[in-house]
Amino acid sequence: MTELPTRRLLLVHAHPDDESINNGATMAKYAAEGAGVTLVTCTQGEEGEIIPPSLAHLAADRDDTLGPHRATELAAAMKELGVTDHRFLAGAGHYRDSGMMNTPQNHRENAFWHADVNGAASYLVQVIREVRPQVLVTYDPDGGYGHPDHIQAHRVAMRATELAAEPTYRPDFGAPHAVEKVYWNRVPRPVAEDAFARLRAEDPGFPGIAPVDDVPGVVDEEHVTTAIDGTAYAAAKTAAMRAHATQITVHEPWFLLSNELAQPVFTTEYYERVIPSRDPEGDEPVETDLFAGVDA
Ligand SMILES: [Zn+2]
Repeated sequence: MTELPTRRLLLVHAHPDDESINNGATMAKYAAEGAGVTLVTCTQGEEGEIIPPSLAHLAADRDDTLGPHRATELAAAMKELGVTDHRFLAGAGHYRDSGMMNTPQNHRENAFWHADVNGAASYLVQVIREVRPQVLVTYDPDGGYGHPDHIQAHRVAMRATELAAEPTYRPDFGAPHAVEKVYWNRVPRPVAEDAFARLRAEDPGFPGIAPVDDVPGVVDEEHVTTAIDGTAYAAAKTAAMRAHATQITVHEPWFLLSNELAQPVFTTEYYERVIPSRDPEGDEPVETDLFAGVDA
């Protein structure tokens, strides 16, 4: 058995690109510091809109080869972040992108939205018991913004966290492992509002500017327990985002999705710690390290 790094971080995401947008600076920072960083992506993002006209033929309603193409984009993005351990849940293509909520794609047989949560979690338990992360990062129960695959990624990650620690559950998957800390991706509303105010003031001439609520996970400040200053890794984050060329156009410090609406690139990344929960009465300072308090 190979020796595990001292600090180990697992991130669970829905589609290629979510990791770079939400956690790119965090992933680059911990990878550079020698922590084990593992990314599990639940689908290949087969239903995504495609920005470059030259790649329009990959789309689900044409060649339907966007998934494998996005897997190559993800691999390139992980190179930029220095992350070597990235996997698809149950293997590439096992679960398919479910499309936006209330679209016919939700009902495809292998749509992730339809996956049995315990069944999908069983694949993630195998990863957790192998890499034994002290820290897990995923979305809130709304998936940050209501996308079915993001909601499902949340459910699967939370369920797998429980099952992985349960000694009687599938001993054949390895020794039980209790993840010490679980975080949900967040952006404090005042931070988001300030950044959008700067974007409007600068008016760089983009076709439009996204509304603040297009940013996943925007919440009132009191929900935010943790801020990771990834300023030193801003270039790695934007390079990783740029690698997802079918999905993202980057013009630092802004980026655009296929809707052509500009948004800020956040290089400090924010989290809400849910395990262990914060003392609601306590006056705990904002953490600056996901591993704070972890006995590594
Ligand atoms: Zn996504």
